[in-house]
Amino acid sequence: MLHFFLSENGQTAHVIDQKHKGAASKVAAGGINPITGKRFVKSWKIDQLLPMVRSTYGKLQEQLRIPIFTERSVFRILKHPAEENTWLGRTADPLYQHYVENDPSVGAFNSNLNPYLSAGEIKLGGQVNLPLLIKTYQNFLSENEQITFDQFDYEQLKIGEQIRYKNLEAKKIIFCEGAAADRNPFFNYLPFELSKGEALEVDLPEGELEKIIRHKISLVPFGGKKFWVGSANSWDFEDDLPTDLAKAELEGHLKELLSCGYEITAHKAAIRPTVKDRRPFLGSHPKHPNLLIFNGLGTKGASLAPYLAEQLVGFILDESPIEKEVDIGRYFSHFQEEH
Ligand SMILES: Cc1cc2nc3c(=O)[nH]c(=O)nc-3n(C[C@H](O)[C@H](O)[C@H](O)COP(=O)(O)OP(=O)(O)OC[C@H]3O[C@@H](n4cnc5c(N)ncnc54)[C@H](O)[C@@H]3O)c2cc1C
Repeated sequence: MLHFFLSENGQTAHVIDQKHKGAASKVAAGGINPITGKRFVKSWKIDQLLPMVRSTYGKLQEQLRIPIFTERSVFRILKHPAEENTWLGRTADPLYQHYVENDPSVGAFNSNLNPYLSAGEIKLGGQVNLPLLIKTYQNFLSENEQITFDQFDYEQLKIGEQIRYKNLEAKKIIFCEGAAADRNPFFNYLPFELSKGEALEVDLPEGELEKIIRHKISLVPFGGKKFWVGSANSWDFEDDLPTDLAKAELEGHLKELLSCGYEITAHKAAIRPTVKDRRPFLGSHPKHPNLLIFNGLGTKGASLAPYLAEQLVGFILDESPIEKEVDIGRYFSHFQEEH
């Protein structure tokens, strides 16, 4: 995303990526849900994020000639009167009207669902095919010799007026290693609070679905009879590999949701770059201004990345300020304590 915005602004950039199979972006559903959680509140900054989502993925679709972004409503199943009350209360709020579909329905797919009390529907959500986007963009970079597939070796970085790394020379380097940033010697003072997420890919016997269904888990259409089911979350983990415990949890929720059978075709896990205060990490290193970070996208990389990448590129090229909430300057005291 940063490469895209830098190119749009006439800059050249080189990407170094170790093609980690368990990268969060390769496991994510890429879902965008404007109203989330048990209290059905607007997702952080969603009113500003959505226009950027549409224009940026739209431009990428055109440039790469692949379908990346699909508009999808989110069909929220309500099983208890308390849930229904909260939904009705929230949807009466004029600030939410824009997102509420008055006639919720999943059409014929309803026959695959266990009985429920009622449902609400959230408009203007969507889904980004992140694995396809990454693969296609990497191929494009490869053709233009703008990517090196390798693990970054921090010891080989030479910081001066210019940044030097092996045979590369640049004005700046931006680290965007996702959860692996806790191994970055320059930025590991930042308070990440990493979380592991697991998901299943399943085939259902029949039923076309255009919407995302949500109750405890999300059921996201992946084309034809393929669906993504997730996620199971854990704050206590030793690696980024799939676990039996999470699989059992996901299957439990899936059986509660579906009346039809399913076949599991894949089980994936990844560590999300989640942050203690749930806000991303953007900005330059307190001591080395030409070292920057773009991280902490947490559970919402698909919707946050366009808005924040544009902001970081504006900061680099025009010195436009980074919003305080996401600026790593808010953790300067952590840096001082450790250095
Ligand atoms: C199960 C699950 C479901 C999710 N569902 C959603 C969803 O529906 N919607 C949504 O918006 N978000 C979702 N997320 C969150 C989303 O995946 C993240 O917000 C986003 O992918 C973070 O992107 P990133 O580029 O920061 O990190 P990553 O995708 O992890 O990418 C980090 C990259 O850095 C590279 N790297 C790291 N260290 C090095 C190094 N030393 N040298 C070279 N390369 C390196 C890796 O190879 C990798 O390519 C989900 C996450 C999980 C785990």
